[in-house]
Amino acid sequence: MKIDFNKDNGLVPVVIQDNRTLQVLMLGYMNEEAFEKTKKEGIVTFFSRSKNRLWTKGEESGNFLTVKSIDVDCDQDTILIKAVPKNVVCHTGSFSCFGEKNTKGFLYELEEKISQRIDMKAEGSYTYSLYQRGINKMAQKVGEEAVELVIEAKDHNEELFKNEAADLLYHFLILLKAKGFSMDEIEKVLQDRDQ
Ligand SMILES: [Zn+2]
Repeated sequence: MKIDFNKDNGLVPVVIQDNRTLQVLMLGYMNEEAFEKTKKEGIVTFFSRSKNRLWTKGEESGNFLTVKSIDVDCDQDTILIKAVPKNVVCHTGSFSCFGEKNTKGFLYELEEKISQRIDMKAEGSYTYSLYQRGINKMAQKVGEEAVELVIEAKDHNEELFKNEAADLLYHFLILLKAKGFSMDEIEKVLQDRDQ
């Protein structure tokens, strides 16, 4: 990997992206020394322009960035690091320095919404009323939706198939919540299988 440190007084911008959520977390700068240290240790070290020295992200807070991959752009003057952040990245306490929510996409937002409806006992919400009917009923709904999806799979109506797939996912999320699990945990099972 060849990086051009000469273009901008020995510094190159480094974009840090969350390896799991793919969110852009922050932007920093590295000189060659910071880059070599980062590669060697597997923990992101920047060159801080305000401190005018090497600065390992998390050296005070303990919120290190563990390097998963390092890529350089087409001009060899910008680095992209995919990393796993320990805790929040920004000193303001937000997940990303760009103020983005800690979301991995709409499904995770939906999971959160379902969880809130149930925890807050939201009267009049379908989610909460199904939850109140107990685990057997929720499990049964997942089964029914799965069967409906199977039936649509044999047909050729795309809209119906997509709708049944959505129903299944939605009820699956309710059942997960009722059993006290989260999508993260299921994702972990899949990731472990993928090793
Ligand atoms: Zn920040």
